[in-house]
Amino acid sequence: MTDALAQYAEETAGCTRCPLAATRTQVVFGSGDAAAELMFVGEAPGFHEDQQGVPFVGQAGKLLETLLNGIGLSREDVYVANVLKCRPPGNRDPHPDEIEACESHLFHQIELIRPTLVATLGNFATKLLSGKPTGITRVHGVPQQVTLGGNEVTLYPLYHPAAALYTRSMLAVLEEDFARIPELLGRAIVPAAPAQTADDVEPELERSLEPAVQLGLF
Ligand code: URA
Repeated sequence: MTDALAQYAEETAGCTRCPLAATRTQVVFGSGDAAAELMFVGEAPGFHEDQQGVPFVGQAGKLLETLLNGIGLSREDVYVANVLKCRPPGNRDPHPDEIEACESHLFHQIELIRPTLVATLGNFATKLLSGKPTGITRVHGVPQQVTLGGNEVTLYPLYHPAAALYTRSMLAVLEEDFARIPELLGRAIVPAAPAQTADDVEPELERSLEPAVQLGLF
């Protein structure tokens, strides 16, 4: 992490801006390359993230990693954060007042990291960072130019990997949308790695997943 981002993570660790401070195990600030060109923004930490202090370490995180590997990237090449830094009890949806209390943490992270491409995962991140109420079903896969943290960035809305784990058609769309990321980063298109695809990991993921309703995704 750059010094400024590491310092901001330290400051955020004691955040008490909303009632989630009382029920969290720890603040899940974000992880990855502090100077990443590509940043992912999810919804909120779940059980495993709250325990480990790292975003996307559960089943959705495994799918995210597989999708990244498929375009020749790894978790270390990107930065991953969430709209909320603390776990909502029972993985319920974030409340509007929690998003309002937390959003400046995300905006400041974006300001410090200065990514050129911000991929939003699911409705909450997409609506917050696009500043528009249009849902993910309508805007996924369509890059938008926005100003975030004082910089022009390309916002790229994607289906949330946890949602894609439950709906095969959504997974196929997520894979297609993911395949455009190298082009949006101005890089050569990397063919999907033959060794492991999202389909390979899916059966393992399916076995151990909580029902979608518990993840509050539908
Ligand atoms: N894990 C996260 O860190 N964020 C999500 O949105 C889902 C799972």
